[in-house]
Amino acid sequence: MTKYVFITGGVVSGIGKGIVASSLGRLLKSHGLQISLLKLDPYINLDPGTMSPYQHGEVFVTEDGAETDLDLGHYERFTDVNLSRRSNLTTGAIYLKVIQKERRGDYLSGTVQVVPHITNAIKDHIKGAASPETDVVITEIGGTVGDIESLPFIEAIRQVRKDFGRDNVLYLHVTWIPYIKAVGELKTKPSQHSVMELRRNGIHPDILVCRTETDLDAGIREKLSVFCDIDKEAVIQCEDVKSIYEVPFMLEKEGLAKQVLQRLKLEPPRQELDWEGWDAWVAHLKKPQQTLKIGLVGKYVQLPDAYLSVTESLRHAAAVRDTDVEIKWIHADEEMEGPEIAAHLEGLDGILVPGGFGVRGVEGKIAAIHYARTRQIPFLGLCLGLQCAVIEYARNVCGLEGAHSAEFAPDAPHLVVDIMPAQRDLENMGGTMRLGAYPCKLREDSQLYKLYGSELIFERHRHRYEVNNDYRENLERNGLMISGTSPDGYLVETIELSGHPYFVATQFHPEFRSRPNRPSPCFQGLIDACLALRASSKTEQKVLS
Ligand code: GLN
Repeated sequence: MTKYVFITGGVVSGIGKGIVASSLGRLLKSHGLQISLLKLDPYINLDPGTMSPYQHGEVFVTEDGAETDLDLGHYERFTDVNLSRRSNLTTGAIYLKVIQKERRGDYLSGTVQVVPHITNAIKDHIKGAASPETDVVITEIGGTVGDIESLPFIEAIRQVRKDFGRDNVLYLHVTWIPYIKAVGELKTKPSQHSVMELRRNGIHPDILVCRTETDLDAGIREKLSVFCDIDKEAVIQCEDVKSIYEVPFMLEKEGLAKQVLQRLKLEPPRQELDWEGWDAWVAHLKKPQQTLKIGLVGKYVQLPDAYLSVTESLRHAAAVRDTDVEIKWIHADEEMEGPEIAAHLEGLDGILVPGGFGVRGVEGKIAAIHYARTRQIPFLGLCLGLQCAVIEYARNVCGLEGAHSAEFAPDAPHLVVDIMPAQRDLENMGGTMRLGAYPCKLREDSQLYKLYGSELIFERHRHRYEVNNDYRENLERNGLMISGTSPDGYLVETIELSGHPYFVATQFHPEFRSRPNRPSPCFQGLIDACLALRASSKTEQKVLS
């Protein structure tokens, strides 16, 4: 029988429920259990695909092409399990389903209500998250207990314990224990209230995970245990740490997995944890020998969550080389187009232009790419980053003045990036974007082939536009290497330049597949090129002195 863990959050948002869910997933998987994760989001949008990154942070794309909440990125990175479109459910999606059923007449002209129709639809979805092999489904409920929006989800998960049985369902509440400086004390009252609120809704949490700045002493643990009515050993401390990747280790020390296994009466295949290389990787992460400075030129740089998978991928690749990454957030605004550009980009070890939509900042990105190309600075372009690199090359090397993308300037004289006829067919069929994993065939003489160590790779996509095939011959004749294409050769997937320390851009988003113990080859190539340049400039300095 599959077991279910439900994770709710109390007191305030942003206390890292997603990291707790991911860490628990990591621990249970390390015990040899088959796990699955699910995020229930209380907003009405069908998915976060149309939300501004300022609202919601990054949109994470799954293998099967779902545009999902960024927490799914954490889930995948921590557990190394590929999730699917079933792994993220919003209020909007549930209502749509129920209303469609109502229109079809499935409810036999009865009154359709939140309870039981919406709650049943939520429960059906939760049950569907498990395959016959799944041992544990971990479900995170977005928002904070007490929000009006999350009530149907809370009611559905309350009912699940009755449906599945007491031993098969566990409630874990993540809460915050604020430290009040003026009195020098940790305060448990907000947690007591949020547990009370949960109990008012019929849920009695089994485990309390407490986010805290400082150590919870025995007295505080006792207090939480008594007032929240939670066993003392089930009061788990989750102290602030430098890196999120240390959290599973900390929760293991606190006995989280043991508590979950005992309460769910689960006998794991392995008592000893198999960290699958995580322990070694975190050891590297904690002792960096040097720091690389990478410039990230984007539109949403005020909100680093908008580029979460990108920055994590940089960290994955750097840590295996005992290196830390300092990210310089560079706003691709008008300033980037003028002579001030050098002030922004000077002294960087590498430049990264991530994905994006809309014209704002595009000229700044193109200018940054020109700088990276001509000054021999390692560069990685992702999706829009590739499209901007092609525009830059077309304008400045191929002499195609006014080259642009149909997304930004449909009347430009040279649309080197456009919607390809095959994509138009896709649009006519109702799909508007190339989403999810697609194969890419790499040229044997390319840098990426060497980095991936294979000819056929699969990476995830999220875009509408492609390199225009009418200009491929011209670009290649002028030295741009089209190093990867769709297996039929029709769509450009990657470009690179020889004679440059590292100039690579991809139409796909390699950041969605990067894992701490398996960094993305594209990012590894960038980090390694930056380190090689550093090493050679040091040798040069030595020779000179
Ligand atoms: N806006 C571009 C497109 O739709 C790039 C998208 C992206 O960077 N993800 O093709």
